[in-house]
Amino acid sequence: MEREQLIDDFLSLVEVEKYEEVYRKDIIGSKYFGMPLKAIVEAEKRLRSGAQRSIAYFSMEYGLASSFYNKFSASSPVHPDNRSQEQEMFSNYRLADYFFTLNTNNIIDLPIYSGGLGVLAGDTVKTMADYSLPVVAIGMLWNSGYFRQKFWFKYGQVPEEIRWDTSSYPGLVPLKNRIKISLKSEEIYLRLWKYYVYSYRQDCVVPLILLDSNIEPNSEKNRHLTDQLYRSDDAWIKVMQRIILGMGGICALKELGYQADTFHLNEGHAVFAFIEKIRGLSKEEKDETRKHFVYTCHTPVQAGHDKFFSEDLRRILKEEDYAATDEFGRDSDGMINLTLLAMNAASVVNAVSKSHQKIMHLQFPKYKERIKCVTNGVHAHTWISDRFMKVFENFSSVLGDVKANPLGLAKVKDLKNNEEFRKEIWEAHQANKTDFCDFLGKWEIKKDIFTICWARRVATYKRPSLILQDIDKLVRFAKKIGPIQIIFAGKAHPQDNLGFTYINNMLDKIDRLTGMYDFLKILMLENYDIFLAKKLVSAVDVWLNNPLPPFEASGTSGMKAILNGVVQMSTLDGWVAEAEDKGIGRIFGYRAQEGQLSDEHQLRIYDDSQQLYVALEEMMELYYRTNNLGKVDISSVWIDTMINCIAAASHFNTNRMLNEYKQDIWKIS
Ligand SMILES: *Cc1c(COP(=O)(O)O)cnc(C)c1O
Repeated sequence: MEREQLIDDFLSLVEVEKYEEVYRKDIIGSKYFGMPLKAIVEAEKRLRSGAQRSIAYFSMEYGLASSFYNKFSASSPVHPDNRSQEQEMFSNYRLADYFFTLNTNNIIDLPIYSGGLGVLAGDTVKTMADYSLPVVAIGMLWNSGYFRQKFWFKYGQVPEEIRWDTSSYPGLVPLKNRIKISLKSEEIYLRLWKYYVYSYRQDCVVPLILLDSNIEPNSEKNRHLTDQLYRSDDAWIKVMQRIILGMGGICALKELGYQADTFHLNEGHAVFAFIEKIRGLSKEEKDETRKHFVYTCHTPVQAGHDKFFSEDLRRILKEEDYAATDEFGRDSDGMINLTLLAMNAASVVNAVSKSHQKIMHLQFPKYKERIKCVTNGVHAHTWISDRFMKVFENFSSVLGDVKANPLGLAKVKDLKNNEEFRKEIWEAHQANKTDFCDFLGKWEIKKDIFTICWARRVATYKRPSLILQDIDKLVRFAKKIGPIQIIFAGKAHPQDNLGFTYINNMLDKIDRLTGMYDFLKILMLENYDIFLAKKLVSAVDVWLNNPLPPFEASGTSGMKAILNGVVQMSTLDGWVAEAEDKGIGRIFGYRAQEGQLSDEHQLRIYDDSQQLYVALEEMMELYYRTNNLGKVDISSVWIDTMINCIAAASHFNTNRMLNEYKQDIWKIS
């Protein structure tokens, strides 16, 4: 009886299209694709009641790690297009050909993200669910995702279009609801989809609404607007995608009956939400509306701010909407600048690290008072490997319940002299590394060899090939101190020619090291995604992060690594600048100059690579003193550093981050 009531409630709140024909088999009894339906019904009711102040969170992308967190089950086998079966990698260790295939065999990540920004949005929404906050998230249903990276022999990357089956992705459902955006000379119709992000206890959810233009009666051209994330440099497409997210998002909230009080713009992409909200309002009412908007800026790079010719917007938007966009978003060059528009629309703006806040203060001096800082974090539950979680549970008398409260990890300091704890984290690390060696199979990566990883978006300021500047030096270290394994992974944006050149250059260098694989083995993994990130951040010995300061606003992959005791080697930038005194590894390289904006074209490759090698040599010596072919010195400083990393992770997580958002940004604590 109660179970039938649950389904009836669900179906009255969520009008699933083709429920009987397609989705009934997975949404039945008390389950939604194997997860508790009750949490959904409660969230849907609460968001409509308006009883609590609720938040609408807007983001162009979401990285949700569906292969290992928030795993929905489905009664039919996963559609082949939604599986990743195998992929290739490039290495200087090859017996037959350039490539071996690697069996991955996992469900693909929901392909609606490109990199760090999306992963952050996903981690944020998961923590909102953990905190049982009344939140609805809004994003886009990218019908062909971002792109799949293939290597083309040693010549570079080839972007392949992702084909995925939206109608059978577990947990994702289309709704009967349609909305309409009215523009100057046409109307855009959108279909709404829903996905649910569960708390780790599976007792709360945040509904995620995804907007999709691929329906009748849209023109062929408009149906393609929600095809690919960040793939176009066509101004019309970019503007239209932003209008869909912002205006479409507000219309979707209305259509579904959600009572949002605070509108959170994760990046400026969604700023047309504000234009939608203020249509027809008086000056006083517009000012009042601003109090309900908050904006998180994620880029310190000028080119990262979206700018459009006002003519382009005038052609698209209705008269009144254009006038409002112009009023709030015109910059001194006469361009419509969406960053500026977001700064003017929001009553609170935040940077994503302290160093990023300083840059924003320099870039936007007029807004200085309004620009706050909430340093990014990662969702501990997603990124702590099972083995480390087990160790933390074994020591719960000191650490508390880390699942519920990762801030308790600060207490690992008290375990520094605990021989048993030191042994357990070392063994957990080695076991993770062994699993990873097995995963890589034929490449014969070895668990007692020093292993360093660089994995993130291939962008110029991140300087992907810094460690490959002086190959002779690497060879010398490997012969003198001990062998080296280097792992790379990362996609370059397909329109970024320099990024493509980097990949080409790295593959080429790796290719030339064929004869050296006994002591210097270098692998480059294709198609970096969350599935691979999860493996890498808990399996390697050293996480390398060498952006040119101050251009990394925050960076988050190192935070994932420290949760697993992985030692850092980093330039002083983004979040790392806030962990400088925490003993998390070796910090090297150029330091940003206080109080001035830097030149992102001056990459300082030579100087910083020299400093990188000094750091690397020290790290390798310490590593091989600690782990001498499997003979381990548990009292080593290396293990102190691992513990310092875990202690620092008590700060760089989304629980701490949301505490700050609640208190300083949304003011709902
Ligand atoms: C965490 C993550 C990133 C972001 O890494 P940064 O160090 O912040 O550049 C990018 N891509 C994937 C798949 C990730 O998991």
